[in-house]
Amino acid sequence: MSQRSVKEQITDRLRSSSEPAQSAQQLADDLDVSIPTINSYIEELVSEKRVATTQIGNATAYYIPEDESRTSTKHACKKCGRITDGYDSVKLEESKYFENPGDEGSTTDFYILCRFCYNDFVSWVWNDSGMMGEYPGVHSWNIADNQMEEVREDPDIKTSPSTEHLEGQHAELLELIKSLYEDDEETAGVPKEEIIEDAVDTGMSERVAKVRLNELHQTGYVWQRLNLSGLTYTPAK
Ligand SMILES: [Zn+2]
Repeated sequence: MSQRSVKEQITDRLRSSSEPAQSAQQLADDLDVSIPTINSYIEELVSEKRVATTQIGNATAYYIPEDESRTSTKHACKKCGRITDGYDSVKLEESKYFENPGDEGSTTDFYILCRFCYNDFVSWVWNDSGMMGEYPGVHSWNIADNQMEEVREDPDIKTSPSTEHLEGQHAELLELIKSLYEDDEETAGVPKEEIIEDAVDTGMSERVAKVRLNELHQTGYVWQRLNLSGLTYTPAK
């Protein structure tokens, strides 16, 4: 039996097994080879990262790790469980170093965090726990609309950046959007064309109005949504 065929048989076996992981003993029985044979091949498979290991009691069990390309299409925040699939998220790497003889060496874990939890994490790192649970700028995040609605509707969560330093054309345009939004009974957001048209009426050039509108969005003063009719804007709460 060639080396390749034993390795392929091991991976086939692990892949098709109904159990989450298998021991060297089980593999040896299933494939009718000795345990030392299984061990020598599985060591290679593990070093090639084609097979992963887990401890079950005192025994080491083996399984096929999830294909990265398959799992990367769906992510849930490690901390709160919000689905970040296709949206803003951050991958944190945590490294552990072992310095004592006999330690396993350094390992690295990955955590996917949503923007909310990452924001809290950064506040915590900077020892600014007063900012935890506050998300000024949330309106510029690329997160699912239902998640945005949820924080907008929560009266305990601060979601708007301070307007203290907003002046000139930015302040003017934001006031304009607010008044258009209040007039709009649908509250689905004010269409971009309407904002630009009204801004032009006040004397702003079309180009400048578009740039300022984009800047208000980038800084979280307005929430941009893509509806069937096009882009709409909602002022930050
Ligand atoms: Zn989260």
